[in-house]
Amino acid sequence: MPTSLSARLSAELAGLRESGLLIHPRVLDAANRARTRVDGREVVNLASNNYLGFADHPVLKAKAAAYLEEWGAGAGAVRTIAGTLRIHEDFEEQLAEFKHTGSALVLQSGFTTNQGVLGTLLKEGDLVVSDELNHASIIDGLRLTKATKKVYRHADPDDLERLLRENDTDGLKLVVTDGVFSMDGDVAPLDRLVEVARRYGAVTYVDDAHGSGVLGEAGRGTVHHFGMAEAEDVLQVGTLSKAWGVVGGYAAGHADLKQLMLNRARPYLFSTAQPPAVVGALSAALELVQSDPSFMERLWDNTRFFKSELARLGFDTMGSETPITPVIFGEAEAAFEASRRLFAEGIFAVGLGFPTVPRGKARIRNIVTAEHTRDDLEQALAAYARVGRALGTIS
Ligand code: PMP
Repeated sequence: MPTSLSARLSAELAGLRESGLLIHPRVLDAANRARTRVDGREVVNLASNNYLGFADHPVLKAKAAAYLEEWGAGAGAVRTIAGTLRIHEDFEEQLAEFKHTGSALVLQSGFTTNQGVLGTLLKEGDLVVSDELNHASIIDGLRLTKATKKVYRHADPDDLERLLRENDTDGLKLVVTDGVFSMDGDVAPLDRLVEVARRYGAVTYVDDAHGSGVLGEAGRGTVHHFGMAEAEDVLQVGTLSKAWGVVGGYAAGHADLKQLMLNRARPYLFSTAQPPAVVGALSAALELVQSDPSFMERLWDNTRFFKSELARLGFDTMGSETPITPVIFGEAEAAFEASRRLFAEGIFAVGLGFPTVPRGKARIRNIVTAEHTRDDLEQALAAYARVGRALGTIS
């Protein structure tokens, strides 16, 4: 007898339940803002990736509505058949100009961008060396290639060098790193990584999902932050779904990259182009961040304030350098309990345990945004102080 679908589903779910990994996402009853309603409760939201507060911003919504009206609800086809609208091309040019790169291409999500670019660029005989904490979409993207894969210790240029030395090849060599690491909030030591990569003739590939709109002048990203934007041996990919407030992924960094992806990247060839409203909102996001520096100023003011106050209370924030602010609780159950207690106090912040983060490093990951007011953050800090004392995390 073959396995029935019901048997498969219930066995898998039971396994997840037993290991405490079954996810029940909370549901937002209103737009994703710094203060919102979650599961019927008014909360301060520290769980989003909405760094600049663009997800529900009126300027983005107005341009989305204008593009919706003029260009329709859907793109109507994949990019390579009949789905490339003038607004797609214009937005890619706008993005390339913003990034100071020869070209930029836009895909449906950051996830598919990593799959599309890594899956297309790398071939048998190539070498890819990837940071051990890189995002799941990089790991999945690398599964699509026949390149030799090696993993270096997190943010460790010496270990990267060892692997490049031990695995020499005449093929393409690619060093892959997140720009900002999504769980710890640390910034990749890009200057040192690129220096090592160049010594071995390797290209560096930066997934800047959490650095775009956060680091560099006007949020141009981690590569800009390190002054390497013009380099054709540093590729930048990232999402349009976090700081930019909407959805999508981009790749930029070499003038010919877009042309090759257009011909080969499977999400480009076989999945429908972004809808016009999305393109409109994204175009407005890039205009807004450049015309109004106060978004980034507020993001960083809030980040500094929240981190220093948490440290003053005695919490361990793992030396995070960005708006991603982990608060360590140790075991997973403690982090989940802290998250439940914070929620009861009107603070929405998600607990993360193994396997998302290492054992013993379970945490709540807080993300500060430009939209939070000082009152929002003070309310969160007061709740953290009470919950941290009640659970014995701080004294
Ligand atoms: N890369 C990194 C480092 C991410 O954190 C994420 C988002 N979870 C992605 C890629 C995927 O981006 P998207 O949500 O746009 O698919």
